[in-house]
Amino acid sequence: MGKHLLHGMTYEEADDYFSKSDLVLLPIGSVEQHGPANPLGTDMLIAQSLAEEAAARSGVISLPVIPFGVSFHHMHFPGTVTVSERALEEYVLDVLRSLTKWGVKKVLIVNGHGGNLPALQIVSRRAREELGVRVHIYQWWTSSSKILEEMFKPDERGHAAAAETSLDMHIHPEFVNRERLVDEKPRGSFERDVFLFTYTHEMSDSGVFGVQTTASPERGAELFTKLVEDLLRVIEEVKAEK
Ligand SMILES: [Zn+2]
Repeated sequence: MGKHLLHGMTYEEADDYFSKSDLVLLPIGSVEQHGPANPLGTDMLIAQSLAEEAAARSGVISLPVIPFGVSFHHMHFPGTVTVSERALEEYVLDVLRSLTKWGVKKVLIVNGHGGNLPALQIVSRRAREELGVRVHIYQWWTSSSKILEEMFKPDERGHAAAAETSLDMHIHPEFVNRERLVDEKPRGSFERDVFLFTYTHEMSDSGVFGVQTTASPERGAELFTKLVEDLLRVIEEVKAEK
């Protein structure tokens, strides 16, 4: 198998890849609180791991992960880093602009953080309008909702809850403080008639939304395997697009 990470290739190897393929994977994450048990890098680490595994198995290369995302709502928790929607939008567009020089026409973003979505949707529009590049956005918790629904109860699927924590335990067990796992029912409701920007600490003291203590590395391994299969299916669909 050839190299599957752009940052691990030489320019000659990259030239060879881009002479045969116009598609790349781009993982994007966040550095933000995920409760007292999980690492701040949860979202970037999950996005990176999914993209790299799918790259190794599909032959489509992965770019290095963009670690920082839009995380204003978590800024009351130490260590969280946020960039603005506009900064993320322009940064990703600059990356795409560079890639067009090497013939890239399709990009599959593996997004690890929901807060990035509004900015990435604008990227998808602008990339088509300004660069002629088709940007698809894959999110493991929505694209794979059937998988999640089958494996995890609703209160295990919230921010930093059992699904995400299980993935952390599988991918980077050394980063998880298992003795600090907590369950917390969020205050207030997402189901309102009006939208209001809300900070995490207004709804959860620990930063966890839902049940986390049922997480396990075994559940994480099973979920990871199914998500990679799902992502491989999406890659084939994007590949087949004209
Ligand atoms: Zn997360």
